Amino acid sequence: MPDPPPGAWTPDRDSAPWWERTGRGEFAIQRCDGCGTARLPARAFCPACRTEGWHWEAAEPVGTVESWIVNRRPFAPGIEVPYLVVMVRPDPVPGCLLHGSWHAGREPVGGERVRGVFVPVPDGPTLVGWEPVVR
Ligand SMILES: [Zn+2]
Repeated sequence: MPDPPPGAWTPDRDSAPWWERTGRGEFAIQRCDGCGTARLPARAFCPACRTEGWHWEAAEPVGTVESWIVNRRPFAPGIEVPYLVVMVRPDPVPGCLLHGSWHAGREPVGGERVRGVFVPVPDGPTLVGWEPVVR
């Protein structure tokens, strides 16, 4: 396989399976085969017991808004500023904070329930963004 062009997005060894899954619209976590600890982002070994055995497990992309920012700097071409980035504590991995784009016509509320949405980036990965859970 040829090297990607300079500046092209490429996943690392540990996160590549995560990005393959988000590209299919699947949210997944790593689960330690030794102690059962769930983890994100992907790592080569368990931070709780140091075991290197683990497997991917499909999970519901739901969680709770912890915080958010309004980004006013254009970090990537084609993305209009300002935009909201939320920090979400996902139910399947309570010790993790995931950041992602916000998909609602209003600002988030701290503690509100959210669901993941899959956001493809041209020539890049499919990111996980967040939208309010409507009851
Ligand atoms: Zn473990």
